[in-house]
Formats: sequence, C-alpha cells, structure tokens
Amino acid sequence: MTLIAQIDDAACLGHGDCVHVAPNVFILEGDVAEQHAPGTDEQLRQAARACPAGAIILLEAASGIEVDP
Ligand code: SF4
Repeated sequence: MTLIAQIDDAACLGHGDCVHVAPNVFILEGDVAEQHAPGTDEQLRQAARACPAGAIILLEAASGIEVDP
C-alpha cells in the first residue's frame, strides 16, 4: 500500500512529535507541521501514531480512502 499524509493545520499543536520520529519527512513551519519529503509508508504511520492531536491523516494513494495508522 502506498500512503499519502495530510496534515490538519487546525488540529496541529506544533510540538513536533512527527518531526522527532521522521525528521527527513516533516518539518515545523512556525507552529504547524509540514511534509517536505514523501517518506515511506512506515515513516508516515509512525508519525501519525506519534501525533498527539490526530492531525496526521493517512490516505491510501490509489483510492484516497482514509486508513488507520
Ligand atoms: S505531531 Fe501532530 S500536532 Fe505535533 S507537530 Fe506533528 S502534526 Fe502537529
């Protein structure tokens, strides 16, 4: 499965847990996370699991259907 991550800017708390677990994928821009590189499915899953705000939404690339991290 190939995953796409979407960050809910309104939900993001900006503490950087996603950056901590996947620094080559996520960065903090001000107080909101942004994805700056594609990352592997596992990196996206780890970041989504680490997010205390549930702000990282994972979608299956082919279908656009949301999947659990
Ligand atoms: S872990 Fe979640 S709340 Fe924290 S910076 Fe990343 S997306 Fe935002």
